Amino acid sequence: MPHSEINPFLAYLCKELSIQFDVATKRQKALSSPEFSELITATVQETLDAYISGELDLQSYYGFSANDYKVLAQKSIDSYSTTNNRFTEITEKHADLIEESVSSDLIEFGKISEKFGDIQNHLNHEVQRANKVIKELSNQVKNLEIKTTLDPLTKTYNRHALQEHLLAILYKEHFNYDMYALMIDIDDFKLINDRYGHIVGDKVLIFIAKIMKKALRDGDRVYRFGGEEFIILINRTDKEGAKLIAERLLNLCRQNKPLVQNKQLAVTLSIGLTKIVKGDTIDSLVGRSDSALYKAKNSGKDRLEMEF
Ligand code: GH3
Ligand code: MG
Ligand code: MG
Repeated sequence: MPHSEINPFLAYLCKELSIQFDVATKRQKALSSPEFSELITATVQETLDAYISGELDLQSYYGFSANDYKVLAQKSIDSYSTTNNRFTEITEKHADLIEESVSSDLIEFGKISEKFGDIQNHLNHEVQRANKVIKELSNQVKNLEIKTTLDPLTKTYNRHALQEHLLAILYKEHFNYDMYALMIDIDDFKLINDRYGHIVGDKVLIFIAKIMKKALRDGDRVYRFGGEEFIILINRTDKEGAKLIAERLLNLCRQNKPLVQNKQLAVTLSIGLTKIVKGDTIDSLVGRSDSALYKAKNSGKDRLEMEF
């Protein structure tokens, strides 16, 4: 629950509780301590349930969009149970104090509202605590997502992400558009490592990854397949479109050279292109792109070859 919503939420809760007190006093009936505690617990519970389910329309009271807190409520559902238990503890703790304000025949509203102020402060504190937990949890989820899908060196997607993405594509009943795969391998990369060292090799990998991202359109993704090999999945294009992207990539590498020891280093790529077809498995797809890449290496490197 964001801080900005705590006060409106508590104001709503107060309103609900005062209606409940009103009903009770109109019945000219003194409430026993357990009854009083039960009334508060039930009202807090109902209001929270309504908030969590999105039924509680604070918008008409305070101008928030119902969808905003539906999304937030979804996020906070786990920490809700802890908070809810703490709410019950708080109301039970205060019930003893409130008992003094409830004589056998009369309810002293002055004292009750004073106690109610205490409860409100406690609840406010609890909601803020829960909010902090939710924030930490969602940050952890975000970091975990990055860790499990991105290659730390090149910031391209990793092989695990490729596997997941390909499975999702290959097991779809119908492709409603054409997809192509490029297998890319840096030429003579071992020489770069041997001549300039691994750190320079790493920098070249980062440089090439940036160029690949530049050559792509929104929605196309680069994956590090291993070492100095990458796979690019291209959506919504035909054979000519896929060839164009591969050629653009080769040209960008020919024209942009990384600076190493004050000299521009020529780095070239070999690329194998294939189309993703119905019935493909990850192995068949990788096998086909690999054999296209093999052709490119065997016919002189720094080029594109295809296999369909
Ligand atoms: P080819 O043109 O046939 O592809 O030759 P190549 O030298 O590029 O291929 P080879 O498979 O012989 O060598 C690849 C090298 O890539 C060997 C390995 O040490 C290096 N390598 C793999 N991963 C990394 C990495 O993360 N950083 C660095 N610096 N080097 C890496
Ligand atoms: Mg290789
Ligand atoms: Mg290589």
